[in-house]
Amino acid sequence: MPDRAAAAKAAAPAISPDPRVPPDAPRDCTLCPRLVAYREETLARQPDWWNGAVASFGDPEARVLVLGLAPGVAGANRTGRPFTGDYAGDLLYATMTKYGFANGRFDARVDDGLELHDAMVANAVRCVPPQNRPLPVEINTCRRFLLARIAALPRLRAVVCLGRIAHESLLRGLGVRLALHPFAHGARHEVGGLVVFDSYHCSRYNTNTGRLTPAMFESVFAALRAELGPAEGAPARD
Ligand code: SF4
Repeated sequence: MPDRAAAAKAAAPAISPDPRVPPDAPRDCTLCPRLVAYREETLARQPDWWNGAVASFGDPEARVLVLGLAPGVAGANRTGRPFTGDYAGDLLYATMTKYGFANGRFDARVDDGLELHDAMVANAVRCVPPQNRPLPVEINTCRRFLLARIAALPRLRAVVCLGRIAHESLLRGLGVRLALHPFAHGARHEVGGLVVFDSYHCSRYNTNTGRLTPAMFESVFAALRAELGPAEGAPARD
């Protein structure tokens, strides 16, 4: 495993980000009119919520990027931190903590004190979409921020894609043919100088229907940890 990780590390991610684009969108980004309108609707109903583009969260020296789909309307769109405020964060951050990528107490609030280590969490689409379904044009438009985020992580070696949309947006950004690297839960791909791990999204829907169990989710992070080696200061896992 370490040999494969070293090989992936040797090649810088094959992307061509626009140097004028920051790794996080401005909160009031106006590039997607439908999403701006939805944000404004939500703002009118819930003026105390974040209601803007949600920035990445985590360690700027991360070797791992966990890439979700988009903010949930009452989750990250409410709190302003990815995977914070709805069920998906409960499973994600508990699993990241178990495998040494987070510590502190996750309490679904931005001031809960949770810290990520060697990992950053972001979404492929930074603004909440209606029914959790971004349009292809919105995914394509927001990809500039994903590419800028990747470019701003100098130690990045691996990406965990939570769901097909995140996987496909990443691969499109890397200029990789999707047919060569199809999404599948538990799959591992070496693309564009990165190791990509796929998982079904840790949404409540997926866990309630049994499509994703906690054990299935943990297996992805176990493979990631095996790829990277033990967390600093942590004993090696079996
Ligand atoms: S989804 Fe991305 S590109 Fe579209 S408005 Fe939000 S931050 Fe801007």
